[in-house]
Amino acid sequence: MSVNDPRQAIGEEIYRLVERLYPLCRSITGDGVRETLSILAEYIPLEVHEVETGTPVFDWVIPDEWNIRDAWVKDASGRRVIDFRDSNLHVVSYSVPVRQRMSLAELKAHLHTSEAYPEWIPYRTSYYNRDWGFCLAHRDMLALEEGEYEVCIDATLAPGSLSYGEYFIEGESRDEILLFAHLCHPSLCNDNLSGLAMLTVLARELAKEKSRYSIRFVFAPATIGSITWLSRNRERLSNIRHGLVAAVLGDPGPVHYKPTRDGDAEIDRVVRHVLEQRGEPYELLDFSPWGYDERQFASPGIKLPVGRLTRTPNGCYPEYHTSADNLELVTRGALGDSFAVYREVIEVLNANRRYINLSPCGEPQLGKRGLYRKTGGYKDVEQRQLAMLWILNQSDGEQGLLDIAGKSGIPVRDLACVAEELLACELLKPADTN
Ligand code: ZN
Repeated sequence: MSVNDPRQAIGEEIYRLVERLYPLCRSITGDGVRETLSILAEYIPLEVHEVETGTPVFDWVIPDEWNIRDAWVKDASGRRVIDFRDSNLHVVSYSVPVRQRMSLAELKAHLHTSEAYPEWIPYRTSYYNRDWGFCLAHRDMLALEEGEYEVCIDATLAPGSLSYGEYFIEGESRDEILLFAHLCHPSLCNDNLSGLAMLTVLARELAKEKSRYSIRFVFAPATIGSITWLSRNRERLSNIRHGLVAAVLGDPGPVHYKPTRDGDAEIDRVVRHVLEQRGEPYELLDFSPWGYDERQFASPGIKLPVGRLTRTPNGCYPEYHTSADNLELVTRGALGDSFAVYREVIEVLNANRRYINLSPCGEPQLGKRGLYRKTGGYKDVEQRQLAMLWILNQSDGEQGLLDIAGKSGIPVRDLACVAEELLACELLKPADTN
């Protein structure tokens, strides 16, 4: 990517937002989530919802709210050998409060490390099982000496609420594109500050433009958050035509697309088209009821066409869910490139319309309408001409521009420009009502 590439500037901006959000201790509930949402609200007019502890959401219940102020393990000399102030990953998320003295053996029953990556602190949670624990680098655990330790987790787990943020851009149609990012991870950059920050900047940019579809952004904790949002918006779900789950978008790996449950939704075809056209390496995955919140959207009672567009998928890079998923793992280039892919997907979704040829008996005469230009500044005269003939030939109200792109090999983006000209000359009219 050259320095003049527009992806650089947007990547820089997304990176700065990741950097700002990085220190906050997020979880599925609590003040870290609220602070995160309030920072995103500086970019877009985010609506923040609070759902009370105890509220049933489908088969789940909103849990107690978790807030943490400090946590440490001190050795016999009073030195903090594990310190929450150094990294919020040191505490198992949702740990119950604890303050007691114990032997090294008792302490070790509550310690989590990664033998495979002995320098890194693993990320662990205990949301639905009341427990407490510390995470640390394996080599630091090995260095702990026999003796008495004092343990403190200064946290509260008490009735409160679950917070999520939502932003809606009204388009020409009430049909919606849903873009979802999970926000429950503490100091981890790729999973998923990259998704949060990229979507936030994308939302701000898209709000400046006209869109055929309305676009809804939801920033919520994984699993319980998407389930909560779905359960509170059931009457609206039929407006959602296409969706994507945005996560792990900052590592330099290739883009990976996981399709919707059925695999042949319009969003699946649009993403494949965009990835093919880019001419850069990418991977297509199979659907599975695992991963991120796409599996909630794909559950049989919901069945929304929501795919997942990431870079290296969750669990497939060594730094995943460890302290090495930090500001060095994510790059400005990858963040800017992910932004460009998402933007292009939205553009193609908006452009993928069906038209009706209003002069369908034989080819209409292009020359008399000024559409047949042999000379002039047109670089791709032939391509433009060919695009025109393809659209006119195929526009029987059934074929969309994406279908025509598939047959002709001409990108939707180019077909859409030509369709605009044909619309202006009243050789076409839209066949879809939205
Ligand atoms: Zn994760």
